[in-house]
Order: sequence, then structure tokens, then C-alpha cells
Amino acid sequence: MIVMKFGGSSIESADAVQRVTGIIAGRAQRPLLVVVSAMGKTTDRLIEIGRTAANGDIDGALGKLNSLREFHAVETASVVAPQAEAALEKHFEDHFHELAELLRGLSILGELSARSLDVLSSYGERLSSVVITEALRAQGLAAEHIDSREVIVTDDRFGEASPLVDETNARLARLVRPLIDTGRIPVMGGFIASTMNGITSTLGRGGSDFTASLVGAGLTAEEIEIWTDVDGVLTADPSLISPARRIRIMSFAEASELAYFGARVLHPSTMLPAVRNNIPIRVLNSRNPEVEGTLIVAEHAEGQSIIKSIAYQEGITVVEVRSTRMLMAHGFLAKIFEVFDRYETSVDMVTTSEVSVSLTIDDTTHLPDMVQELQEFAEVTPVSDQGIVCVVGDNIGYTPGIAARIFQALEQINIRMISQGASRLNVSLVVDEKDLRRTVEALHATFFSQVNEKVFA
Ligand code: ADP
Ligand code: ASP
Ligand code: MG
Repeated sequence: MIVMKFGGSSIESADAVQRVTGIIAGRAQRPLLVVVSAMGKTTDRLIEIGRTAANGDIDGALGKLNSLREFHAVETASVVAPQAEAALEKHFEDHFHELAELLRGLSILGELSARSLDVLSSYGERLSSVVITEALRAQGLAAEHIDSREVIVTDDRFGEASPLVDETNARLARLVRPLIDTGRIPVMGGFIASTMNGITSTLGRGGSDFTASLVGAGLTAEEIEIWTDVDGVLTADPSLISPARRIRIMSFAEASELAYFGARVLHPSTMLPAVRNNIPIRVLNSRNPEVEGTLIVAEHAEGQSIIKSIAYQEGITVVEVRSTRMLMAHGFLAKIFEVFDRYETSVDMVTTSEVSVSLTIDDTTHLPDMVQELQEFAEVTPVSDQGIVCVVGDNIGYTPGIAARIFQALEQINIRMISQGASRLNVSLVVDEKDLRRTVEALHATFFSQVNEKVFA
């Protein structure tokens, strides 16, 4: 069995949906399961609509909701069979009606909790998964819609819930496996799930990739295909570097590291279930399906390369914490981390010197409170508008001279922090956000001007 996941841009229009149903039909001689994201930018739009309502502008919110409905109606009209049109229209009617009610509630309450936001944003996949089911049926395929909220079970950390794997696997075996075994193609919305109490939750932005690998692992798929709008995992974000090169093959560890440090092409948790069950992941382009994409596997001997790719993250804040004593006292680090921990603010990078510690965070919601607490025992300087650039590759830790090449490439750029992760497969740098592009360009030119053709296309 293969799991095929299609991202929002792969199903953003009627033409795109037709392309996708064609790709699925081309593989339908094998057992398949399909996972889809919301169509186009639907999730962003739902969140924006929710904020508008919570700010009290209910008319504005309903107006935007209407245009989202229009978008769904226009882009799906030609993809379903005539006999399915009425049922799809009813599905839209019911769901947009519920959404309008929800927005009215939000505008009265004047707030948007993580839990409400999950309910609101779940509608994107609840709509798209039904659309794709009908579009596949129109092609004569035996597609069956499954509401992912009945299958994927999570804890109640709304906004970025964690799956309860045993329960999810039990439900996959009970509700999904029989469909596959009887020759049908289950179609599930990615990203959405529910708690043990049946309350809607989500796996976090970009979480449909994670759904695909959870389902793939739970049903022991042979391969998990992530279909997106680029040719595979590239040597850098193509919106920054053009042309970036396609990576033909990479390890789970490399892909995890890249995703964690900002390469949007895969949700950072995607690799976990695949690693545990040793299921290969392939990243493919739905606009260019002949290209073989990027294969992500446990280990690969062929065509080694030291550096595989460069990721970056914007909107980073560095918090410099300086001991008020001459030297860092015993327990100083523990006291600092305890503060970040209590405010549930995750720290990505840490560097230390004799008297100071620098940490990076991307969520500054609790920064003022944390600074106040840290100031009780240290001098604290937050520095905003920073970026992290991360160079990733399996062999970085074992290759002399990498740091020298990095510094040489970045002679003209002020590097605020640098660290090599204990995993030994990344080197991360913090630079001013305004220098991010230059930094990535310089590193890309250094490491990818000449490449091993076995590893890069
Ligand atoms: P989808 O809707 O299919 O989930 P995403 O927008 O989440 O697609 O991810 C694909 C995008 O990730 C690409 O269009 C590209 O702009 C971005 N991206 C960032 N870094 C990389 C990288 N190293 N390789 C490929 N794509 C990347
Ligand atoms: N639709 C969700 C999002 O935009 C999940 C996904 O696309 O993977 O974040
Ligand atoms: Mg994505």
C-alpha cells in the first residue's frame, strides 16, 4: 500500500484537482490511501476570517467567508460527476452555515482560543477531502471518504496536538484497513484530528505531512509520497535561491533537521513515524510528476555528500542573559531554563561564554514576563529581527574544514551566534534578519556550485 499526500497548492484549482486525480488514477492498480490538505490557502483564510470576527467585525468576517465559499464552488464545479453535484452542494451549504454560526459566536465572545481556532481551521480539510473523494469517483475510482477526526486521536494541546499512536493505530485497523483490503481508496483530510473526548484538534500548521506518515506507519505502508509544488527537497528554499538543486536521496535524520530548522517542504514531525517503521518517504511534484523527486530513507551509501541543504528561519529573537556575578554561578543555567520552561517557550539554539548565555526563541508571547523574571538574577538583553541559517548534512560532524568554509563564505556578514548540534549533522548561525538572504546565497554558492551528480539533480 502507498500513502499519497497532496498539499494545498496541489489542489488549489479545478485544473490542479484534475492533475491530482490523474496522478492517483495512474497508480490505482496498487492499494492506495490518499491524504489531502485544504485547498490552496484555505487554512490561512479561515484563520484570518476568525480573527476578523473575534475583533468584532462580523460583517467583514462573513463577507470573507462568502468569498471562500465562492472559491470552493467555482474550483470544484467541473471536477465532480453531475450526479454528485447536489450532495457536494449540500455539504458546502451545511459546513459554511456552521462556519457562519461559529463566527457569530467568536464575534460575541471577542476572543479566539487555540481550541476554537482548531475547530475553525479544521473546515479546510473537511471540505477538501470530500471534494477529492468525489473527484476520484468521477474518474471511476472507488474512493471512500473518511473523517480523519474519527481516526487520528491526539492529546488536547490545541493548535499543535500530539497523536496518541496506539489509539490511532487501533482505529486505523478498525476503520480504514477493511476499505483497503476490499479494493477501495480511503481519502482522508490531513492536519485534523480529535481528542479522546471527540473535540476537534489539529497537528499544527503544515501538519498534513504528519498525518500521511502517521497513517502510513499505522498501516505499514510500503512508501509515503508527499506531493507538493516543487520537484522535491531542494538545496535551499527556491523562493530565495534560484535555481536550487534537487536532492535525489537523503536520510531521515537530514530531512528532520532541515524541517525543524525551517524548510517548509515537510512538517518536522513527518519523519518520526516513518523512521520507527522504516518506511521510505518520497517528495514529488504534482505539477511535474515525471520527475523522480527526493527519496528519504534510513541510510544510504550511494553518493555521499557533506552538505545537503540550507534552511533558514525568520522572526527570531535572541535573548542574551549575562550573569551579574563575575562568573556563571553553579545552577545559573538551570535557573534560566526553568523560566523558559515555565512559560512553555521553546529554545532553538543556545551558546554560552564564561559569563553569559545566548538563546534563540521564535515565540515572543511571554517575552516581557520572562525578561522580568530573568532580571531578578541576571542582566537581560532581547535582540529582535534575527534569523537562523542552518547548514545540514549527515557528514558535517566528521568533516574537517566545514567551519572554515562557512566563515570564509560569510566574511562580510556579522554572525551573532554559531553552534553545531549534538546530532553532528548541522551547523547553525544567527544573523540579522536583513542579512538572511545574503547569508543563504553565499553559503549556497560555496557548497553547491559544484556537486556530486549522484546526490543532486
Ligand atoms: P504543500 O502545500 O504541498 O504542503 P508547502 O508550501 O507546505 O507545500 O511546502 C512546499 C514549499 O516549501 C515549496 O513551495 C518551497 O517554497 C518551500 N521550501 C522551503 N525550503 C525548501 C526546500 N529546501 N526544498 C523544497 N522546498 C522548500
Ligand atoms: N492546511 C493545513 C495548513 O495550511 C495543513 C497542511 O497544509 O499541511 O497548515
Ligand atoms: Mg506543507
